[in-house]
Amino acid sequence: MRDAADLRRMLRRVDGRGYKAYKGIEGAYDCGEYILIVDHAQGDPFASPSLVRVQVPQRVARLPRYAYSNRSREIALRDFLTRKFFDASRRFCKGNRGTGNSGIILIDLPGQEILERTSTFATELYVEARFVMGLPALGRTVAARHAEAMFFEELPQIVRASLVFQNLSESELQKHIETAEDADSLRDQLDRLGLVAFVADGAILPRASGIDPRPLTKGMVVPFQSAESLRVKVELPNQGAMTGMGIPNGVTLIVGGGYHGKSTLLRALELGVYNHIPDDGRELVVTNPHTMKIRAEDGRRIEKVDISPFIANLPFGRKTSAFSTEDASGSTSQAASIIEALEAGAQVLLIDEDTSATNFMIRDHRMQELVSKDKEPITPFIDKVRQLYQDIGVSTLLVMGGSGDYFDVADRVVCMVEYKPYGLTEQARVIAEKHRTERRPEGGERFGSISERIPLARSFDPSKGRREVKISSKGLQSIAFGTHTIDLEAVEQLVNTSQTRAIGDAIYYATKYMDRGRTLREVVDTVVEDIAKKGLDLLSAKPTGDYAAFRGLELAAAINRLRTLSVQAKA
Ligand code: ADP
Ligand code: MG
Repeated sequence: MRDAADLRRMLRRVDGRGYKAYKGIEGAYDCGEYILIVDHAQGDPFASPSLVRVQVPQRVARLPRYAYSNRSREIALRDFLTRKFFDASRRFCKGNRGTGNSGIILIDLPGQEILERTSTFATELYVEARFVMGLPALGRTVAARHAEAMFFEELPQIVRASLVFQNLSESELQKHIETAEDADSLRDQLDRLGLVAFVADGAILPRASGIDPRPLTKGMVVPFQSAESLRVKVELPNQGAMTGMGIPNGVTLIVGGGYHGKSTLLRALELGVYNHIPDDGRELVVTNPHTMKIRAEDGRRIEKVDISPFIANLPFGRKTSAFSTEDASGSTSQAASIIEALEAGAQVLLIDEDTSATNFMIRDHRMQELVSKDKEPITPFIDKVRQLYQDIGVSTLLVMGGSGDYFDVADRVVCMVEYKPYGLTEQARVIAEKHRTERRPEGGERFGSISERIPLARSFDPSKGRREVKISSKGLQSIAFGTHTIDLEAVEQLVNTSQTRAIGDAIYYATKYMDRGRTLREVVDTVVEDIAKKGLDLLSAKPTGDYAAFRGLELAAAINRLRTLSVQAKA
């Protein structure tokens, strides 16, 4: 292997030459404290910066074995190291050193969640960090002196400060991994406890702002305090005994006056499928990992989804057992998103009245009198939510401050008053007895079957211009797949652009499993299994540092939103 002196010589040799001369430094270098690998040198100072890795052997890094002794801990450790690398690069990287991206050293930055990422790895042999470097240019020529400073002054300081145990705070690291381990343990316990979710006493649910996911600290912040009737005690590996609100399986209604914290609670539960960093406030807010947030999304495309449990008898006799549209209405989009989630394996649905189609959620007695059932294609959710649980075991958590009709179908009612939950199931039952709604159930006997669909590989074209495969994420909520755009705005449980990026590439990877009669569910599950076995790296040809883990539910949701998707019904 070449060494640091070789790299220095090579840089000096190409100084002042055309920028493409940087290509010559691709490869691995033994730098003593670590191995430096330049996987890809950018061809232009304005292009995406170069892909670089360092591998620090454990004889230097000396990370304690306990920090990666199980999967929860390993992921948390890696997340911790990524954050430290990011902080250190801010501290030690001088930044701008010429044209374009010249001078940057940047690692993928995690948000409030602890996700598995490809930015760092930890094994018994070494610690690896993957990041990008903007190889410096003056105009369009190699600026070797600056490159030397980056490789031999800045980078070693960053590596030492972030990947070597003795320079890290052990108590901070410990807290990080124990927090993640407790959350994973809690999530694992939900099933046994018959719960779909748990919200710990003392949790801080509100966020700093609509665009800032850090905890709210300004003004009055009310810590979560469980309702007595739903209080559950759990045992955690690190924190020990803990109490909080357990939300049992079945149909749960969250009611309460406007601005009393209903949506905030639901939002926290949506993200309870992920672990959160210490001091986030939601460290012990966890949800069943197969929980899917559902919302109306008018304008979306739908491809041959059997929405007949919710919608039938459309005008002009249009069939709904394989319903397609380029421009769904609010109600049909919400119906399709539910069926698609069930098809992909969702076990819990979360729905907020704020983002639902009213005519999908409710249809009261007076409306039933005025518009007879044979003139209304929609069977409202209220008539299906119990069957959903009874027939297929899928629980629903519903924020509904606007209609007491739901008292009739809920297993329990939680009322938010000034950001505190109260169990009002009995009171709601008494009211439901006293004031009968007189509405007729319209949902029939059964929920109806979920028909599976077979995606056709030819409907996925990742090519663009001369590029055979061109896929990229455009921010958190959009994937450019070939010449098409996948809009993920309504897929609300995505939290990080690196997830979106990985999903884009996973769609392409998934196509190799298609066309052998495999259903969408089977294809998605196979991709998820492959990633579990071999890691996210299998999604790309080169080692990249900017993937983050995602669920099969989001992968399926993205495929369902590809506007070219074509499917066959399963025979
Ligand atoms: P609802 O859905 O019941 O109308 P929201 O959940 O949207 O209410 O909450 C209304 C406002 O109250 C939001 O600005 C939110 O940040 C804030 N909020 C929510 N929970 C708390 C809390 N526990 N402490 C302080 N403010 C909160
Ligand atoms: Mg609300």
